[in-house]
Amino acid sequence: MARRTFSMGGIHPGDSKISRECKIEKLAVPPVVYISLSQHIGAPAKPVVVVGDKVKVGQVIGEPGGFMSAYIHSSVSGTVKSIKDTLDQAGKAQPTVEIAVEGDEWLESIDRSDALVADIPADGKAILEKIKQGGIVGLGGATFPTHVKLSPPPGKTCEMLIINGCECEPYITADDRTLRERGAEVVVGAALIKHVLGVAKATIAIEDNKPEAIQNIQKVLSELRGKDPEYAGIEVLPLMKKYPEGGEKQLIDAVMHRQVKSGGLPIDVGAVVQNVATALAVYETVQKNKPLFENSITVSGECFPHQANVLVRVGTPLRFIIDQLGGVPENAAKIISGGPMMGKAISNLDGPTLKGTGSILFLTREQTKREPEGHCIRCGKCADACPMGLEPFLLYRLYKAGDAAALERNAAQDCIQCGCCLYTCPANLPLLDIISLARGQVMGILKARAVAAKAAAEAAKAKAEAEKAKTE
Ligand code: SF4
Ligand code: SF4
Repeated sequence: MARRTFSMGGIHPGDSKISRECKIEKLAVPPVVYISLSQHIGAPAKPVVVVGDKVKVGQVIGEPGGFMSAYIHSSVSGTVKSIKDTLDQAGKAQPTVEIAVEGDEWLESIDRSDALVADIPADGKAILEKIKQGGIVGLGGATFPTHVKLSPPPGKTCEMLIINGCECEPYITADDRTLRERGAEVVVGAALIKHVLGVAKATIAIEDNKPEAIQNIQKVLSELRGKDPEYAGIEVLPLMKKYPEGGEKQLIDAVMHRQVKSGGLPIDVGAVVQNVATALAVYETVQKNKPLFENSITVSGECFPHQANVLVRVGTPLRFIIDQLGGVPENAAKIISGGPMMGKAISNLDGPTLKGTGSILFLTREQTKREPEGHCIRCGKCADACPMGLEPFLLYRLYKAGDAAALERNAAQDCIQCGCCLYTCPANLPLLDIISLARGQVMGILKARAVAAKAAAEAAKAKAEAEKAKTE
């Protein structure tokens, strides 16, 4: 039977999963960590430690700075050396706690045994609170605070939880390894999230280029079903490999055959999507009292001789990780955080890892070379490849013409920056670069409009209240 996939656009780049047989190995703890207080969508966390404080592994060092924010925990034991702006992987200043490492003393409340805790606690609200306290954020790239995502707004109901095991970007294999090595914990994590949402069905969606992961999760499920009713509605769904299947909207289409509208959210169509690594983090924080302070990272690239999947403490300088694995290869011309399609160039190797750092990729000059730009031949390949149903050639032209209104009408804001258009264009036009600028421009306009509308509504309300007070 033909495997399911999403319905619109997509491409088939080479897999390049050359690290897929590399087991997840614990990396040494570095002498110093730099833990960013801004490693999630929303307000940065506020530090709750001061310079000179002694901290243990797992101790809270930052508390949420707003509704949309997350707790930050120390990934090491040692002494707080500074709390100041420090340059991140892209060279941007971020509020950061620097900790000099002394030993490796964990909070005693953390259960460090390998024993699987499969019973699902009855109190969903208590699970949600633990997820919040554990500083869990979406680890598929978006770093959206998980406790917020698991609290649908009034009037919205979740019908299906989807655990995203697609890992559709070339090279990255950390989720594949997690499904193969820690599949039971991932499934328990899925059951915990399912229970919080009060939903009957959960689907663990895995692309069919990961047969061992699919088999392992099927085996785990057959063992766990019957242990707790919460495992009953969990299924594995193998999907046809196609990029960008791991995109939230594409995955919902592939699994549920539902389309999230422009500007909409997954919950609008009854879906909540969580990544494999997030499910594991939920397991660890709820069942083992272990907050999110370490994560698995793929280090790969054809020019890199020491392919690896490593378990790394959050805040580890990238240079430390790379040095532990033999150093930067001589012929690496570009280093990317993430995959080759959607990853971001790393400009500062002294920058630390974040909760959401999933990979470090080395590319050679040949791999990053851009062919000379030609002229658009109106072949339409970019539109055929776009998984959001956009017309990249048109957005490109409109941005060059400075027509922001037309860019908004043609939904430049819906671009998910997947790069499918750039990948397919025979004229080598920098479609992704230009459309990303267009998207940023339209998003800026939409944000300014929302702020103005809110201010106008507040002014109207204040005026109405003042008039009412006058008449009383
Ligand atoms: S980068 Fe944007 S415009 Fe290009 S294919 Fe992806 S979603 Fe479409
Ligand atoms: S793929 Fe390139 S050449 Fe073809 S229509 Fe799109 S922009 Fe033009």
